[in-house]
Amino acid sequence: MNAHVSAGNASIGNASIGNGFPALVLNADFRPLSYYPLSLWSWQDAIKAVFLDRVNIVEQYDQAVHSPSLVMKLPSVVSLKTFVKPSTHPAFTRFNVFLRDRFSCQYCGAREDLTFDHLIPRSRGGQTTWVNVITACSACNLRKGSLTPAEAKMWPSQMPMQPSVQHLHRNGRLFPPNYLHQSWLDYLYWDTELDP
Ligand SMILES: [Zn+2]
Repeated sequence: MNAHVSAGNASIGNASIGNGFPALVLNADFRPLSYYPLSLWSWQDAIKAVFLDRVNIVEQYDQAVHSPSLVMKLPSVVSLKTFVKPSTHPAFTRFNVFLRDRFSCQYCGAREDLTFDHLIPRSRGGQTTWVNVITACSACNLRKGSLTPAEAKMWPSQMPMQPSVQHLHRNGRLFPPNYLHQSWLDYLYWDTELDP
């Protein structure tokens, strides 16, 4: 997962940064506000929230922002002061479909060259929803073409469904995001290791 941060031209020390230094956002119970995607704010938004008294700073980066009247370390982890009810339904995103299907073709099990297949093809009225979109490799996707599973005699290893947050969370432990700042790890999965 990209720790994507909106661009800003503020300077940190002498280094100008366009992105970087995102803050992990925890709910008031110290769980991430969301896992998929991981709840991250730009450092600008994190600092704004600190001054609006909406969050507590839990951990900090070594880098600081300087203004004429202030030097402040950038927050790397913040927690909301008010508990927000977490959503129970994960967002319907490409990443979450891959995650539900454990990044494997649901027809042949391949783990490379993955794309998406509509169980009932779009040309036959199939919709782009949790229950009709599955992970498939390009070869299977091509082979199935605009046929239904019965016509193609191609059945997915499991029928697609809308996953729960817990379901994605279980799978997510197998596929942690690429970039996890060290200060976040205590608030994520117990068994996530930091990239070397
Ligand atoms: Zn395949």
